[in-house]
Amino acid sequence: MNETRAMNVSAAQRGAPRILVVEDESALSLLLAYNLEAEGFLVERVERGDEAELRLEESVPDLVILDWMLPGVSGLEICRRLRARDATRTLPVIMLTARGEEGERVRGLSVGADDYVVKPFSVPELMARVRALLRRARPERVATKLSAGDIELDRETRRVRRAGRDIHLGPTEFRLLEYLMEKPGRVFARAQLLDSVWGFSVEIDERTVDVHIGRLRKALAKAEETDPIRTVRGAGYAFDETFGRA
Ligand code: CA
Repeated sequence: MNETRAMNVSAAQRGAPRILVVEDESALSLLLAYNLEAEGFLVERVERGDEAELRLEESVPDLVILDWMLPGVSGLEICRRLRARDATRTLPVIMLTARGEEGERVRGLSVGADDYVVKPFSVPELMARVRALLRRARPERVATKLSAGDIELDRETRRVRRAGRDIHLGPTEFRLLEYLMEKPGRVFARAQLLDSVWGFSVEIDERTVDVHIGRLRKALAKAEETDPIRTVRGAGYAFDETFGRA
């Protein structure tokens, strides 16, 4: 089975997220690996359920793409067992299923899959879900509320408040603020924000980011209030880590 394992050493050296693809349709598995590697992920592929279990016991990847119907052990059973083990209880899992099995969606989610995709699916859509899930899985995303100074963002209710008043944001501005607030002080390039906040590498002009940052600023700060977002010339944007501490 070694030839089915794609290793991308440069990605490994950069500490890229590791993704295990468990899929017995070789063509689909190859297509997924090709696209994931193009995005800089380190990919391993296995075609059987029992083989997947062995791999998962050896080492835990950052995310698993798991087909439902597999030779050996079913994807459903693998998912159930992953959730029963401490080491893999929170491991992000995206389940794949064939058309006609949609009725099983609830079962898939009930054994603990994080997301669920019906074949045939669009590859960019799946890539977007992989990225979204990896973002969600990061520890700093565990907190329901993010706060800095007088600004509070609630991921569950999707509400933002400043000094006790509601701030109304469009979905993109909300995700932008959420993303920036997760790592105060860190400067994000426009391309990086496009990729992480918009969720896929579509042909969007980088100036789009400036437009949405502008809207976010306008919504967040009244006349005499401090602007929490810092523009770093030639580099990008950051949530000011000194905000609210002055
Ligand atoms: Ca299958």
